[in-house]
Amino acid sequence: MSIRIDKDKCISCGKCIKVCPGSLLYKNEDNKAYIKYEDSCWGCTACLKECGSSAITYFLGNDIGGAGGAMKVKREGQYWQWEIKSTDNKTHTVKINTKESNKY
Ligand code: SF4
Ligand code: SF4
Repeated sequence: MSIRIDKDKCISCGKCIKVCPGSLLYKNEDNKAYIKYEDSCWGCTACLKECGSSAITYFLGNDIGGAGGAMKVKREGQYWQWEIKSTDNKTHTVKINTKESNKY
């Protein structure tokens, strides 16, 4: 399980670095974020949610039944818009209302 950061989209804000609970993210010589310890990422998705540039992709590995699909997220007001791309290139969208996420 790991994430990948698109350096072209990264605006060097450093927010992902601050929120990663495992201190796995750092900046490179170009001031762009990167993951230093890929194998240690447990997929909490905190960095994805913090990145306002949607520069981070989360890969769904076999360990969680994802078979290599990928996931991104974008904040739209009170909603999280999750985009999940499966290996057959199909895209699924899941919209989460943050105001109701702790309702049940
Ligand atoms: S939160 Fe996004 S834009 Fe900011 S440093 Fe991390 S990857 Fe780059
Ligand atoms: S998904 Fe969680 S553990 Fe993995 S790099 Fe992002 S913040 Fe760190």
